[in-house]
Amino acid sequence: MNEQRSVAVWRDGAAVTVPAHQPVVTAFDLGLGRGDGIFESVAVVAGRTPHLAAHLTRLTRSAALLGLPAPGDQAWMEMVAAVLADWPAALEGVCRLFLTRGLGDGTPPTALALLAPVPADTLRQRAEGISVATLGLGVPADFRAGAPWLLGGAKTLSYAVNMAAQRHAHDLGADDVVFTSLEGRLLEGPTSTVVWAAGGTLHTPPVETGILPGTTQARLFTAAAADGWPTSVTPGTVDDLHAADAVWLLSGVRGAAVVHTVDGVRRGDGDLSRRVRELLAR
Ligand code: PLP
Repeated sequence: MNEQRSVAVWRDGAAVTVPAHQPVVTAFDLGLGRGDGIFESVAVVAGRTPHLAAHLTRLTRSAALLGLPAPGDQAWMEMVAAVLADWPAALEGVCRLFLTRGLGDGTPPTALALLAPVPADTLRQRAEGISVATLGLGVPADFRAGAPWLLGGAKTLSYAVNMAAQRHAHDLGADDVVFTSLEGRLLEGPTSTVVWAAGGTLHTPPVETGILPGTTQARLFTAAAADGWPTSVTPGTVDDLHAADAVWLLSGVRGAAVVHTVDGVRRGDGDLSRRVRELLAR
């Protein structure tokens, strides 16, 4: 395992670098005990974080949805700079930003940044594509829009269900998951946004379903529209994935992972992945 890692915490108004093996939260931190917090995963490429701003915007929105006092963009940028300080430019990394409710009762939140190499599996899936299993999430597609306590659209630390879904997919022989609503509408992956190409248009499900607004999907759709490739927010179904010219799961670190198999059924990519990657690289 590559041991290159770095950690910075926000203490008394400053970013403090700490050795990666050193504990940085107390056992009573509510992020640990309740998953009561939020995070972001930011790609580090050539020693830089080209898309940090979009992640900070989403982090601020997640914090507001949870009623967490956010330390502000400047604090995050200082923590990111601290973990990047000795990072080798040739090593692609994933920088995670965590904000938890700390000890609660109005005490300061816990804010920290950590940086580690991109896992080999992620790089392999980006290069080779992925098989997905579609799994029901058990909520109607329109339910979370009117249920703020379910924290739709917030990137919370409560990812146990997302991780369990991925383990379940692995048990089924698949790499990843596409969640569906109670009535069979497409939602998102446990760590990614679903995008499919059909009828000369790029499609993605509506955020009103409670899915996370993907920064990579937003970047792709902006670049595609500027390039003359129409985009649409579409309430799709699993049948739409089978019928599509191409399907990708998009996320900041893995990028556009082409879906070559849906529920055991092989599918192509219509030779469109190269254009998607080229648009994301702009
Ligand atoms: N949806 C979920 C649930 C996620 O966890 C992620 C990524 O972290 C995404 C979508 C994709 O978001 P982004 O493209 O900003 O990485």
